[in-house]
Amino acid sequence: MKRIFLTAVCIVVWINSYAQITQPEASEVWEPEPRVVHVDSDNWIPSDATVLFDGTDLSQWESTNTGGPAEWTITDDFMTVKAGTGNIQTKASFGSMQLHIEFRTPSVIEGEGQGRGNSGVFFQKRYEVQVLDSYKNRTYSNGQAGSVYKQYLPLVNASLPPGKWQKYDIIFDAPEFNKDGIKVRSAYLTVFHNGVLIQNHVEVLGTTEYIGFPKNIAHTEDKIMLQDHSNPISYRNIWIRNL
Ligand code: MG
Repeated sequence: MKRIFLTAVCIVVWINSYAQITQPEASEVWEPEPRVVHVDSDNWIPSDATVLFDGTDLSQWESTNTGGPAEWTITDDFMTVKAGTGNIQTKASFGSMQLHIEFRTPSVIEGEGQGRGNSGVFFQKRYEVQVLDSYKNRTYSNGQAGSVYKQYLPLVNASLPPGKWQKYDIIFDAPEFNKDGIKVRSAYLTVFHNGVLIQNHVEVLGTTEYIGFPKNIAHTEDKIMLQDHSNPISYRNIWIRNL
């Protein structure tokens, strides 16, 4: 009797598993259903984005030097670095995100190499994706536009000529540190420059230092910072999606 029962169980299990590999429904996932995000086809801003700059004012930004109001200049729908006023940063802090930002290097070429159209987008105030006029402007490859500064050169140079609006779409995965201050997960960056993939999920080695090597000192969520490198770079249409 026991043997008959066990045989019956085996047959049921076999039929069940056979059904699982022959029915298409067996590998379908219905829950959860991804929530709907609407995209405004006028400006392509997703409905769940946090807009950090829409051209109106710098109310979501502050001076890195003073913590007071950001002093960069607003003209029409864009802001421009006011040389000497220093970097600006968001008032809010962020972790992992998708960032969209548009920038324009000066139409009148001044300087060369790192001195021509230099600025930068810093994630958590530590990890710089370089902004530079890299249109026919040679410099060290891991310091040109779209580089993860002094860590990764861009896969290609997708720069437009001076004076043209360009865009970065960046995915930043924030690093993680344990309670002892040890990094347990690196940051990662993926960067599209004018729609072209130039950084493909690269592992950020630590802070992007001008001199010396990356550092990995524990930190929490922090601000997005834009660099005043004394060149009048303009920015517009900045938004993020928290990930
Ligand atoms: Mg820079």
